Amino acid sequence: MLLEIRNLSIEFPGTPTPLVAVRDVGFNLSRGEVLGLVGESGSGKSVTSLAIMRLLPSQATIGGEILFAANGGAPENLLQLDAERVRQLRGSGISMIFQEPMTALNPVMCVGEQVAEAVRAHNRVAKKESWKRAVEALREVAIPDPERRAHDYPHQLSGGMRQRVMIAMAIVNRPQLLIADEPTTALDVTIQAQILDLLASLRDRFGLTMLFISHDLAVVSKVADRVAVMYAGSLVELAAREQIFRAPAHPYTRGLLDAVPTLKTERGRPLETIEGTVPPLRDVPPGCPFEPRCDLRVPECARALPPLVEISPGHWARCPVANPARAL
Ligand code: ADP
Ligand code: MG
Repeated sequence: MLLEIRNLSIEFPGTPTPLVAVRDVGFNLSRGEVLGLVGESGSGKSVTSLAIMRLLPSQATIGGEILFAANGGAPENLLQLDAERVRQLRGSGISMIFQEPMTALNPVMCVGEQVAEAVRAHNRVAKKESWKRAVEALREVAIPDPERRAHDYPHQLSGGMRQRVMIAMAIVNRPQLLIADEPTTALDVTIQAQILDLLASLRDRFGLTMLFISHDLAVVSKVADRVAVMYAGSLVELAAREQIFRAPAHPYTRGLLDAVPTLKTERGRPLETIEGTVPPLRDVPPGCPFEPRCDLRVPECARALPPLVEISPGHWARCPVANPARAL
């Protein structure tokens, strides 16, 4: 196991009540695996990834454990590491690609130098060697004529090329875990498909382990081996991609699938949407957060957060109705 998250909770202070952004989330990732984390906007995907990167603001209250076994060694709880160890792990242990490359890149530094800086942050190498590795990384992400493009500034590149630079920066130190948070959301559809192809090919070449985050189940289904579904801060379902698509167990996942046009909808049939809205996170009901919108709810759903139950091997769902062991 490379990464294991146990009982993760994340709260932000607020009045009259704190905002519970993540509630008892747990999942793990094996080496070489791609886990897709999906859920609509505000469901807690980004704060989960920021917790792994130790980038949450200091006012956040974090509970649980995030165990990471760097280089196959004994697992360390990332939430308890000191700043120096966190710095060591960022880049070569865990690296991250963000949604918006323009804000993550330095506008006044050529892109080759930015990748080279990432090399030098984690390796004791001379400037010239780091530049060479940067150009090589730009070639790996299929930027044409990388020797020349390395001298370009971010504004001289298209959105898709800038995202390739971000990916080059994220993989140049061969991280053991790559977190991609909505890496294609800001791009138009054709470029989005190219970036997904690139991530898939980098995964094959380097055996990348990836946490791939998106609000779009169709995008996640293109790259993930397993899919974790979040709703209002809770993990509601986790299973192999095929199981999620063939036999979704949680009513929310079923709703999401019905809303994916390319996968299930016949042409001409209007898209299904799920009635109702996500509860505000300051006011999530004590039971299943999806209960108010759920067609299949039973009285116990409103009482307490249902447990995440393994309903068939490797297929977990947080729904008493989906649980075959439920006494009828
Ligand atoms: P997602 O990535 O799934 O769209 P996020 O993880 O960004 O959602 O956000 C989850 C919830 O946490 C949201 O309600 C968001 O407003 C809240 N949140 C995120 N960061 C902060 C912060 N720094 N302070 C207060 N609330 C935050
Ligand atoms: Mg997000």
